[in-house]
Amino acid sequence: MRRRFFRCSGESYRTVGAWSFRGGYEEGKGEIAVASEDAPAGAPAEVYGRYLEGGRLGFQRCRDCSSMVFYPRVLCPVCGSVDLEWGTSGGRGVVYATTAVHSRDGEPYNVALVDLEEGIRMMSRVEGIPAEEVEVGRRVRFEVREEDDGPVAVFVPMAEPEEPEESEEPAR
Ligand SMILES: [Zn+2]
Repeated sequence: MRRRFFRCSGESYRTVGAWSFRGGYEEGKGEIAVASEDAPAGAPAEVYGRYLEGGRLGFQRCRDCSSMVFYPRVLCPVCGSVDLEWGTSGGRGVVYATTAVHSRDGEPYNVALVDLEEGIRMMSRVEGIPAEEVEVGRRVRFEVREEDDGPVAVFVPMAEPEEPEESEEPAR
């Protein structure tokens, strides 16, 4: 069940737990888009999945009103246009809101809203540090995780500016 949690439909909503937002801490407030198991599996979701399989984070932009559209869908949620174009994110973002979810079996895990540089806000999770240590404002970057039912987008902390960039491959 937990994994489906991160498949945001953008159509169905439920509110989870206590969220820490930029500018404050609110208990159980906010309209947070969370995955819905009965989300329609339309073509945009398949395109998004193919981007993920290729290690990229795809999103849409409306050619009529220039709105960024995420989670992918058929109609622009702002103006109703069907003229949506695809782009890929550079994968750099900042944590806008974060919460640690305590599951009955195992370590707490993180759920976060991440603002990407392209202007998209997406629900995901931050890995690589303990769930409770994810901070609002933390710079993160996108990675893909393979899970049982397909690839999902997650985020990991970016190195702080004063630290040398981590190399993907060891220098030889
Ligand atoms: Zn539009």
